[in-house]
Amino acid sequence: MDEPLFFEETPRKDPWTNIRVEDWNDWKWQLKNRITKIDQLESLIQLSKDEREGCLFADKKLALAITPYFFNLIDRDDPEDPIRKQVIPNVKETHVQENELLDPVGEDENSPVEGIVHRYPDRVLFLVTDRCAAYCRYCTRSRLVSNAQDYNFHPRFDAGLDYIRNNPQIRDVLLSGGDPLLLSNNKIEYLICELRKIPHVQFIRIGSRIPVFLPQRIDPALCAIFKKYGPIWLSIHVNHPNECSKELFHACEQLAFSGVPIGNQSVLLKGVNNNTETMRSLIHKLLMMRVRPYYLYQCDLITGSAHLRTDPREGIEIIQSLRGHTTGYAVPQFVIDAPGGGGKIPINPNYIESVSEDAITLKNYEGKRYTYPINKESESGKLEHPELIQPLVI
Ligand SMILES: *Cc1c(COP(=O)(O)O)cnc(C)c1O
Repeated sequence: MDEPLFFEETPRKDPWTNIRVEDWNDWKWQLKNRITKIDQLESLIQLSKDEREGCLFADKKLALAITPYFFNLIDRDDPEDPIRKQVIPNVKETHVQENELLDPVGEDENSPVEGIVHRYPDRVLFLVTDRCAAYCRYCTRSRLVSNAQDYNFHPRFDAGLDYIRNNPQIRDVLLSGGDPLLLSNNKIEYLICELRKIPHVQFIRIGSRIPVFLPQRIDPALCAIFKKYGPIWLSIHVNHPNECSKELFHACEQLAFSGVPIGNQSVLLKGVNNNTETMRSLIHKLLMMRVRPYYLYQCDLITGSAHLRTDPREGIEIIQSLRGHTTGYAVPQFVIDAPGGGGKIPINPNYIESVSEDAITLKNYEGKRYTYPINKESESGKLEHPELIQPLVI
């Protein structure tokens, strides 16, 4: 394939400078050589006291695991490095706030069978594994992933598939976990093939951070499965422009050439990506990787995440500074996944200034006011809930 125009390979750092290229590019080598122990981590990077203590707690909360590839993206001399903050444990994860929850978006209450979360009428979340290539410290499913908290999650594919078969209102299945792309090709093919046989299942997508943590996993055999059973959509999880490497570019390119539309879901994180410059750079890089920014999440109220959570109003400001200033393709929808299980609620800057019988008054991205008249002869009598169309006050 052609060399990408906008992305560079990160030079490999110690102790991996002399690893054979075939090994480095082998996803099994990357998994086998993950950093999972504090001694390994300390031989590579100077940990702060909080990070060091965090590592000692990780086994009981959420395992420490970082692929050499992803670790290599960290600037080890920068204690504030945005990738470091996502994957290196911190003792602040044990400082639990009163309003924080182990299951912050109420998944367990909406689970008719183990591994299925059925919250919206037409679609289900199907958790097919509890393992990931690396662990995000703010993981909303830290109760069950990495099996550090004795949650005893045992996804049973056939029980989940039966539930989907028996509920014809399900037209949309989202495979997630853990990370579904950590499963073998055989298991992935089995799941997708069984889903494709169900007549009412139209839309199949996968939520995965593998392209970001372990881009080597995206190989021709996996892509052939997506091509065969396509369209299969993919949501990846990139938070910072430093994650947009040549390796990620190539993974996305292979997926896109196999007919996989790719979206990105970012989480707004304090000190990682909560400023306009970082977010603008990220979304523009994503477009150049054929990835459409889909959702920007307010960080869930997962236990021990206060040090990473931002004021929700910051997210609104960031969206306001992007919308109209760049293409709509680049602007994600900012959402709060409602605590306790209300689902994702879109949060937007307010562009409606007032609504009357005669006109709707709007503000554009520059703050200039515009009026659009309401045609009384045609539509106004047909609204089902006119009271809902009112400006919000922020
Ligand atoms: C996020 C989510 C979905 C998918 O929602 P979309 O808005 O379609 O991306 C489905 N089920 C659950 C439980 C979810 O949390």
